[in-house]
Amino acid sequence: MSKPLLSVSGLVRSYGTGGSKVDVLKGISMKIYPGEMVAIIGQSGSGKSTLMNILGCLDRPSGGDYQINGISTRSLSNDDLAALRRNYFGFIFQRYHLLTHLSAKDNVEIPAIYAGTSSKNRDEQARKLLTRLGLGERIDYMPGQLSGGQQQRVSIARALMNGGKVILADEPTGALDSKSGLEVMKILKELNSQGHTVILVTHDRSIAANAPHIIEIKDGEIVGDIWNKDKFFTKEQEAAYNASGAASADDGHAAEPAEESGSQSQSSGRIISELDRNLTGRTAFFAGLGRFGEAFKMAWIAMVTHRMRTLLTMLGIIIGIAAVVSIVAIGQGATEEIINNINSIGTNTIRIMPGKDWGDMRAGKIKTLSTNDMAALKQQVYTDSVTPSVTSSQILRYNRGEANGQVMGVSSEYFRVMGLSFASG
Ligand code: ADP
Ligand code: MG
Repeated sequence: MSKPLLSVSGLVRSYGTGGSKVDVLKGISMKIYPGEMVAIIGQSGSGKSTLMNILGCLDRPSGGDYQINGISTRSLSNDDLAALRRNYFGFIFQRYHLLTHLSAKDNVEIPAIYAGTSSKNRDEQARKLLTRLGLGERIDYMPGQLSGGQQQRVSIARALMNGGKVILADEPTGALDSKSGLEVMKILKELNSQGHTVILVTHDRSIAANAPHIIEIKDGEIVGDIWNKDKFFTKEQEAAYNASGAASADDGHAAEPAEESGSQSQSSGRIISELDRNLTGRTAFFAGLGRFGEAFKMAWIAMVTHRMRTLLTMLGIIIGIAAVVSIVAIGQGATEEIINNINSIGTNTIRIMPGKDWGDMRAGKIKTLSTNDMAALKQQVYTDSVTPSVTSSQILRYNRGEANGQVMGVSSEYFRVMGLSFASG
């Protein structure tokens, strides 16, 4: 007797806290067996998507338990849940959720990038899936160039990229015309007969009628759980029906073997370790490197496709940096200019005179300050230039004119010491 693949019991999901707390799911219990095709049906707002997000490990329950292959998701770390999402579940959404700037093939490859698959294998697998789904001619088309039905098929290929053992389809036909909707349903049934477990959410009874097992929810509670034996099309569905206990007396599933929990957890442990096998040690390092490369490539593609946005962003950054650089440069230039001006006035010039102080009457008679002293000063590392200076007042005559003037005896370094420059002469 097969064991449930997914099993929820007393599942509660509430939003908000305190007085504004709303229970969206109010104690859902159900079992889904391997190879089943289940339709979850209910009106808009009944909590179908909320339940689906929990089943796909996109969300965690507020109460109750959710077990995958006998392992409680409460015991799994966020990384384990991410690995499950990546390698175990395939998601199909009403609005496809394709990246508009990537081609069909590149969209399909995304889950494999996160799984660290080599680019050659990714490319092969994506082409194979798209061809299988009838899009062999449109592998390099952008989502905008594809019809709704074709986009949904691309998203189905994406769901299958890493295997898609369990396919979660939330209103997959909701945005499609009835013909494309039927096509999508046909594909889902085919996938189911190839061994994929399919969980389908819909508000449309005629769509749900395709599934041999229909669970109806209303206001967050299960109000119906129907098996339609006429619709069985695989052995797994029959096996699931028998395992569910719906076939025999009502207490059929009371005989559910709790004592087998040891082997159950072993097998689920195996599932999870199989998922992570590819991501250990060196492989993980190269996968990380590959993902970085892919992220870079995608960033580049996004930049090239949104040229105007890229240009404006770049312009903003350029203006910002230019403004900062020029303000710093102007500041530095001004500081240097001011320091030069102050220096040229003579803050770094020292005058050495004979005598005790300004009023020393005998200063004129002291003759010990000589050119030797100047030479000695010149030797010091801290002196830039030295000049002697002897001043006397004289009457200066030129042709017929004469004037009082000062005559100074200095050396050639005088101009440098005083911060002067020769204009002419
Ligand atoms: P369905 O998919 O069946 O149409 P949903 O599961 O999306 O319904 O939503 C069920 C109810 O939960 C709705 O009443 C919705 O308003 C509410 N709900 C869903 N998500 C949130 C959220 N993040 N915060 C608060 N309420 C939410
Ligand atoms: Mg919904």
